[in-house]
Amino acid sequence: MTVPTAFSKTLKITPKLAEKLAKLGVRTDQDILLHIPLRYEDETRLTPVADLRLGQFAQVQVRVIEHTVQFRPRRQLVVTTVDDAGETLVLRFIHFYGTQLAAFRADALIRVQGEARHGFFGMEMVHPRYQSVTEDTPLGETLTPVYPTTDGLSQSAWRKLMAKALDEVHLPEILPRNVLGDGWPTLQAAVQLLHAPPPDVNPAALTERDHLAWERIKFEELLAQQLSLTQAKLKRRSELAPQLMAQDDLLKRLIAQLPFSMTGAQTRAWAQIQTDMESGHPMHRLLQGDVGSGKTVLAALACAQCVSAGRQAAVMAPTEILAEQLYEKLKGWFTPLGISVAWLASSVKKKAKSETYAALTDNQIHIIVGTHALIQDAVHFHDLGLAVIDEQHRFGVAQRLALRQKMQESVEGQRNPQYDAPHQLMMSATPIPRTLALSYFADLDVAVLDELPPGRTPVVTKLIDQKRREEVIDKVAYQVAQGEQVYWVCPLIEESEALELQTAIDTHAALSAALPDLNIGLVHGRMSAVEKREVMASFVTGETNILVATTVIEVGVDVPNASWMVIEHAERFGLSQLHQLRGRVGRGALHSTCVLLFEKPLSATAKARLKIMYDTTDGFEIAREDLRLRGPGEFLGARQSGLPLLRFADLEKDLALLEDARDAAEWLLANNPAAAQAHLQRWLAQREHFLAA
Ligand code: ADP
Ligand code: MG
Repeated sequence: MTVPTAFSKTLKITPKLAEKLAKLGVRTDQDILLHIPLRYEDETRLTPVADLRLGQFAQVQVRVIEHTVQFRPRRQLVVTTVDDAGETLVLRFIHFYGTQLAAFRADALIRVQGEARHGFFGMEMVHPRYQSVTEDTPLGETLTPVYPTTDGLSQSAWRKLMAKALDEVHLPEILPRNVLGDGWPTLQAAVQLLHAPPPDVNPAALTERDHLAWERIKFEELLAQQLSLTQAKLKRRSELAPQLMAQDDLLKRLIAQLPFSMTGAQTRAWAQIQTDMESGHPMHRLLQGDVGSGKTVLAALACAQCVSAGRQAAVMAPTEILAEQLYEKLKGWFTPLGISVAWLASSVKKKAKSETYAALTDNQIHIIVGTHALIQDAVHFHDLGLAVIDEQHRFGVAQRLALRQKMQESVEGQRNPQYDAPHQLMMSATPIPRTLALSYFADLDVAVLDELPPGRTPVVTKLIDQKRREEVIDKVAYQVAQGEQVYWVCPLIEESEALELQTAIDTHAALSAALPDLNIGLVHGRMSAVEKREVMASFVTGETNILVATTVIEVGVDVPNASWMVIEHAERFGLSQLHQLRGRVGRGALHSTCVLLFEKPLSATAKARLKIMYDTTDGFEIAREDLRLRGPGEFLGARQSGLPLLRFADLEKDLALLEDARDAAEWLLANNPAAAQAHLQRWLAQREHFLAA
């Protein structure tokens, strides 16, 4: 594939080099300068061998004792050296030339740069850089930048290219002064400093990215992100969707027959959702609420509004178990009101499926609930008005696009050019920390359920060593004798689905043997949808006492009588997973307990995770910690693929800059759209790089 690039002749970039640069999103002169170092190596000082730290870059100065070529385990050059404190450092080279050996004659003084690791004889470095020096050879005066790069493009090639580009390329200032911070350098000065830091710059300010030059770059990056998200939001606001005005008292009747009254948070969220649906522009709202906060009611209200306005609603969930539960709930609420609710999943038999397709196109179905099966080609709505997506982070861009198309082709299978998109209500139990809501999710409108329905008793969490598993089994038997129900979650085995399945089967067998009088069920991902449904149904009715499960029960399952949960090898699960799992208990008035069985030794992160689970049940707090421990990737899920990840800014640390960037984006789009476009253009190459990755 040839990529169009546009470099000045004077930079002497060969087609081959251009191809490599293109892989990194570098296609123009300016892109070269915007290829900012990811980190720095400090060659301004020497580290004594005794102070070397595992895996950390360091520069040492040592004298060669001897070098030998060894043949075991493979041919390699081993250079034994000693520093002036008498500490030994071994250098190891797998690839080497005879000509290199001269530098390693006995007593030669060399300066070495690399990462230390533990070797057989103490610290060693594998393939370090090195130079022959004398006692007087001066140290470097400045930090050495390290560039993100690709195969066959060395750091020294980058440094040479950058030196030339810094001389020849000019980065015109695009942003007006008023959106920039006080004392910030021009973009040209900022990149100059970051690529070739002068000796008087505080090294810590560079490596910690605190320097004003870094601030400028981080702002540029955040601004590009804010501009593209804000633009997406504005574009959507200019699109058309049907105005869904309720035509009868369906909503009132639905609310009247709910077995509870809505919480304040539910009422507030509903007001926002209803306003969106009546606006005539596609709703694009994320309803965020912790597990058990009562999101399903809002899905039902939105469906009622849509149906009352004379259009069809679709409700989609990522798994059959989840979709099924939604279906049962909605059917229970709507059937008495004369509204038809239908079910569609891939497990539905062919004949029933085609009947459902026909009924849908024929406008005999008001609300359809299902899995991905809802967006298959064969599905044609009569006039889709609303799509509700549960656990939205499990769906990707492609699926949302598919839903859009279902809207456009509505009206008796004809393309419906009048409207651009259906209203979308996305629901998520993964709370999004504020920093992420402001950044990656800035194109969404968000409604938050920040209040749990009344009468819940918080789940008590216990951390218990796996060694005491027998005691836990006894305790579980006791709870069951009290009429309670128990989830028993099997360990997550990431490497092998087959092994995970086997463990679940074994656990089920072992528990059944240990507790022969109890009814013990098993549910796992390899069962057919029908089998799963039967197992779940028997647990819901209380016939099954203990449900052994893999993580298929992770989200959405609602069995209020289940008040105990045991999670085996809890140390293997991620925080949000544990939180979701634990959210399956504590749904009724019963006091609930979640036992996290762990096996030692625990890694530091595993320990931190278990401690957080023990300390709090607050989903937002857990999410914040999760973000801190793992970075934003997990939260973004399928969204990630369509969005540039931030490379320089750190959401936690740079919240203030993020807020400035958001304000600046709004101001620019309103007052200086030309600058906004130019800024996006400038940083677009980087973005395409991430889209391709
Ligand atoms: P989630 O937000 O996890 O999807 P659900 O919608 O499944 O939560 O609701 C959890 C439980 O709380 C359900 O049993 C539901 O009937 C109940 N519930 C929802 N709203 C209220 C409320 N306002 N008052 C009492 N119970 C409620
Ligand atoms: Mg739910």
